[in-house]
Amino acid sequence: MQRLRIHIQGIVQGVGFRPFVHKLVQSHGLKGYIKNSSSGVEMELEGERETLEHFVQELPEKAPKLAVIERLSCSYSDELCGFEDFRILESKTEALRNTLISPDICICDDCLREMRDKKDRRYAYPFINCTNCGPRFTIIKDIPYDRAKTSMSEFPMCPDCEREYSDIEDRRYHAQPDCCPDCGPEVFYLDAEGKRLEGDGIELAREKLRAGGIVAIKGLGGIHLACRVDDEKIVRELRRRKQRDEKPFAIMCRDAECAKQLCHVSAEEQRILESFRRPIVLLRKKQRGMEHISGNDYVGVMLPYTPLHYLLFGEDIDMLVMTSANLSDKPMMFKNDEALEELQGIADGYLLHNREIQTRCDDSLCWVLDGREYFARRSRGYVPFPISSAKPLRQILACGAEQKASFCLSRGSYVFPSQHIGDLKNLETFSNYAQQIRHFQRMFDICPEVLVCDLHPDYMSTEYAAERAEDENIKLIRVQHHHAHMASCMADNSFDGKAIGLVWDGTGLGTDGSIWGAECLIGDYRSFERFGSILPIPLPGGDRAMKEIQRVAWSLLQASGLDASHIENAGTYKMMLENGLNCPESSGMGRLFDGVSALVGIKQKCSYEGQAAVLLEAVAEDDEGVYPISFTGDILRFDWRDMIRAMVSDMDSGAAAGRIAARFMNTLVEMAVLQCKAAREYSGLDTAALSGGSFQNMYIMSRLPKRLEAEGFRVLRHHRVSCNDEGLSLGQLMIANAKTEDI
Ligand code: ZN
Ligand code: ZN
Ligand code: FE
Repeated sequence: MQRLRIHIQGIVQGVGFRPFVHKLVQSHGLKGYIKNSSSGVEMELEGERETLEHFVQELPEKAPKLAVIERLSCSYSDELCGFEDFRILESKTEALRNTLISPDICICDDCLREMRDKKDRRYAYPFINCTNCGPRFTIIKDIPYDRAKTSMSEFPMCPDCEREYSDIEDRRYHAQPDCCPDCGPEVFYLDAEGKRLEGDGIELAREKLRAGGIVAIKGLGGIHLACRVDDEKIVRELRRRKQRDEKPFAIMCRDAECAKQLCHVSAEEQRILESFRRPIVLLRKKQRGMEHISGNDYVGVMLPYTPLHYLLFGEDIDMLVMTSANLSDKPMMFKNDEALEELQGIADGYLLHNREIQTRCDDSLCWVLDGREYFARRSRGYVPFPISSAKPLRQILACGAEQKASFCLSRGSYVFPSQHIGDLKNLETFSNYAQQIRHFQRMFDICPEVLVCDLHPDYMSTEYAAERAEDENIKLIRVQHHHAHMASCMADNSFDGKAIGLVWDGTGLGTDGSIWGAECLIGDYRSFERFGSILPIPLPGGDRAMKEIQRVAWSLLQASGLDASHIENAGTYKMMLENGLNCPESSGMGRLFDGVSALVGIKQKCSYEGQAAVLLEAVAEDDEGVYPISFTGDILRFDWRDMIRAMVSDMDSGAAAGRIAARFMNTLVEMAVLQCKAAREYSGLDTAALSGGSFQNMYIMSRLPKRLEAEGFRVLRHHRVSCNDEGLSLGQLMIANAKTEDI
């Protein structure tokens, strides 16, 4: 006999972990106790050494699916306590405070089986769910989480459902949204005029879709617009009606096999596609084409996640375009009446239901990199699950940035990142942002002692923070944009030390008042110094150059002493530059991508942010060439002029755009390696953190980390929050926590 002490850190509270341990302990015939600790759970068990070891092995394998075990430490001893039974030691207040709220979970296999069983009382019922699946975050109005405080409060349970709910042996024991056709919500179909039609709503929607119509479909966190994938005409019509020219659409496939007809799907990608979180996964097309869906190499694919989605598919429908129903920059629609009003002339029919969505939550969007999610958007299926921190945190609200806004709140060892919010310049989006902050504060019982925002005074999130800081007399900390990015990547990897940060993104206000972009920083959560960057690029016309990117191409040529007179309006740009008229400079990596795209003729005008970079990546061929790399200036600035000159001479000798694109990105990779090596020599540090929206480039992400590792660096990259501005609030929070540690 031995005594085993186990300490588990991670997300193991409020996810059914202790009841699970109880069962597992009993199956092994062990004795002892389990209790919550400040960073996880602690337990002591007594039994034969072999049994104890077996138990430890099974623990992570069989843990509940929402549990995240980050560290598990064991120590054995011969001193016995003589436990007589197994106990869950609980302190009531702590249990309440630490209750987590589950994200929405896709329909489970058991429910799917019942839904397809003609003899089951929930046959073809679109709201079937159980303890292991169904809506959670999106239907919760308030805590504690029970039916009365969700959208299900309007649907009293029938005696059959009640019986399941109260039976500890039943798989619907304490399933708050449990319901059936007798007592639960119902689905209905309305025509283009908003008139409710008699008959099976799902069948009517299927008919409309098959016939080439656009149907608004209410899902879990919002309303989608759906149509056939194979009908190019209707997809283009959807673009016209939605006024969405070129931005890719996501599609929903019946199953992974169906996705494989269109895209390459690795085993890891399939695992994440099929995971209970059901994100949209960006998959590489098998062949060029499907330009009406996506103009680049990737297609965003998701699998059905609600029972209603499953009922839409069949032999006759195996994939559908599924795009969020929203109008230019407004948030995704999530209420029946707003859809009926605002989608007039856009939708040919509406498949809606009477279970209200309380909280809007967009689909998550990610690549799969080294077997893990690499987020472009972390939202449904992941939110509101926390990220755990090794050390306790103050109660802090981090307000994020502007365009891909998100916020983070912390308490104890948890950071709660919000769902995708959107561009705060839009009034509705901003009011949703403010509302969600309050909602999260209430759900997780957080009253911020510190607020943190970006250095940029004009961000709506900065204004929000400044106003609250004053009204509520809370300390406000302003954090430099790129420092926050770097800290976000460090925190994403639970790294607490000094590192070299490579932060490549569009724009962010620097500490010197200029616009920063592609930065090489050295620092930790408390402070940083700027070690490198790139030579600033003049942008004739300022913001206009973000869309009309041939302006940037002109600038690159002009600065490199090359002929730029063939570019439209070259004379005007020259005049603007020479007279300093609306010609701000930017050291943004995004701008360099824009300029090069326009230069090699891939794109002259962008219709959505990041488009030029995405297309440049898509055309890149296999080529190992690298252009000359030089540095200049006060800090280690990449002087791209030599590269541009070599690029133009490549073009003059007839090199294809795809070859130049590859060489350009290879050059950036090698430039980054040189910057990091110089930073290592200067600082003695060998950890490199990669963050910023430009690292959404899979060509670079599949090369740069490997190159850095080959040079002896430890590379940190994002895997729990997005590398773009959406993930930045996590970094702000960690910086604010470090800066107020001694106060
Ligand atoms: Zn289920
Ligand atoms: Zn019922
Ligand atoms: Fe940024």
